[in-house]
Amino acid sequence: MRLILLGPPGAGKGTQAERLVKDYDIRQLSTGEMLRAAVAAKTAVGVKVEEILKRGDLVSDEIVCAIISDRIDEADCANGFILDGFPRTIAQAEALGGLLDEKGLTLDGVVEIRVDEGILLKRIEKRASETEGGARADDNAEALKKRLAVYKEQTAPLIDYYSKSGQLKTVDGMQDIDAVAASIKDALSS
Ligand code: AMP
Repeated sequence: MRLILLGPPGAGKGTQAERLVKDYDIRQLSTGEMLRAAVAAKTAVGVKVEEILKRGDLVSDEIVCAIISDRIDEADCANGFILDGFPRTIAQAEALGGLLDEKGLTLDGVVEIRVDEGILLKRIEKRASETEGGARADDNAEALKKRLAVYKEQTAPLIDYYSKSGQLKTVDGMQDIDAVAASIKDALSS
C-alpha cells in the first residue's frame, strides 16, 4: 500500500499515519521528521534547513525530493509507505510521479483529511501553548500560522491536482480520532 496523506498542520496527519502504519504494515515517511532529525544531527542538509524550519517556510523541492527518493529505495519500504508532509507543492507532486514511474511503483491513493479552518487555528494555538519551549522549534503560534498560510498557498492546490487524476479520497477530519481512522479505511477499500 502506497499512500499520500494531505491536510493542513493540525489536521491529525501524524496520528492517522501511525495507525495506518500498524494496520497495513507500511512505513510512515515524514519529511518534517527526517528534516528535524537532520537538524539535530547537524548534517550538511540539517545546517542548510535549520532556519527555514524555524520560520515555517518550505525547504527546497530538490532537497525533499532527494530525501524521499532515497528513503523509498530502502528495504523496509518494500511493503509500502505513507507519505506524510510530502508532496507539499505541485512541483514536488510532479517530481514524485516521475520518481515512482522510474522505480516502477504506483500510488494506491491520496487521502485528504479535511478540517474547519477556524477550529484548526484554535488547535494550533493550543498546540503552541502546550509545547512552549518544547520539542519542536516551529511549534510557536507565529510559525504555526505561517505554516498554515504556506499550506493554503502552496499545498492546497494539490487537492485539485489529485482530484483531477482521480486519486483523491477526502475524509472528514473533524470527527474523533477513531472515526477519522475508520473513514480512511473505508475510503481506501472503496
Ligand atoms: P511537518 O512536520 O510536515 O509539519 O514539517 C515541518 C517543516 O519541515 C515544514 O514547515 C517545512 O519547513 C519542512 N518540510 C517538511 N516537509 C516538506 C516538504 N515536503 N517540502 C518542503 N519543506 C518541508
